[in-house]
Amino acid sequence: MLTSAKVKKMARALGADLCGIASMERFEGAPKQQDPRYIFPDAKACITLAFRIPRGYLRGIEEGTYFNAYTAMGYGGLNAIYMPVVMREICCFIEDNGFEAAPVPNFYSGSSISFATQQYDPTRSRAVSPDKPSPDVLVDFRVAAFASGLGEFGWSKMFLTPEFGPMQRIVCILTDAPLAPDPIFTGKVCDRCKICVAQCTGCAISKDETESITVAGHKVEWGKFDYIKCSVAYVGGLPEYNPFLQIGADPEKYKDQYSGGAMLDKHMPYPVPFSRPAVEGARGCMRACYAHLEEKGLLKKHFVNRFRKRAPWKLAGEAAALPSDPFNVGKE
Ligand code: SF4
Repeated sequence: MLTSAKVKKMARALGADLCGIASMERFEGAPKQQDPRYIFPDAKACITLAFRIPRGYLRGIEEGTYFNAYTAMGYGGLNAIYMPVVMREICCFIEDNGFEAAPVPNFYSGSSISFATQQYDPTRSRAVSPDKPSPDVLVDFRVAAFASGLGEFGWSKMFLTPEFGPMQRIVCILTDAPLAPDPIFTGKVCDRCKICVAQCTGCAISKDETESITVAGHKVEWGKFDYIKCSVAYVGGLPEYNPFLQIGADPEKYKDQYSGGAMLDKHMPYPVPFSRPAVEGARGCMRACYAHLEEKGLLKKHFVNRFRKRAPWKLAGEAAALPSDPFNVGKE
């Protein structure tokens, strides 16, 4: 008989770092366009998997000297390669036990969503019948992780686990196997220090205003979040935090575009292996938050040495938005 314990053991053996299980009733109240029950109406359980981002993937960005590891392996590589491979094996394991397993990968997941507003955009797809949402339903992985008992929302709106703080990526598998759910996490990881607010380069997180939802009868709250500001900063739209930004880049031209848009791509010829580069490296919501949680001893996973050893760097004056010249071409 397939049990939650067997699924979790297999998930860990195959490479997932955390595995929690939610009953589908816990998604009651989700917006129709984000409700996983429309993907698999007969599903009995949502298996949520978290994959840690090894903190060394962010070392080069923390030092300001090597950005590729996080972009290639910590973001796109995890989403597009590693997690789908592990999910496939878990799906096959479940289906070998006689139940169906529908993966919800964290990749190409916004097909019905406007890049500009992050809201459902009716011009991008249409429902196949009036009773259904339009494809693709966009599952909120943070909500799924909360419903599966893996942790809580931080003030930054990042999902925090007691093991890794904000450093993980999340995916789901929906199954008709009647797996027992985990209890909702009622501990505390986020201590509301608001260092994420102070160190977010995009100024995307409010210090005082909040947003909240209810998941499985529990109020979930975070600092009001500006998605566009986050997206522009995320790909390096801020000259002070992007040593690759070229001369002539005018932030005014891309400031309202999701992920900086094509305009930013023209001004930042950075290799893009799987998606736009995450050169900002989550300075506030991930790196500063992690450093704080580690310093306060609030994480279960410990290291011999601290992550943050020096004050975070920031380009200033002429260095900001000057072209990078790694091979000293300008001096020849
Ligand atoms: S930086 Fe502080 S307030 Fe922000 S999410 Fe992390 S623990 Fe919470």
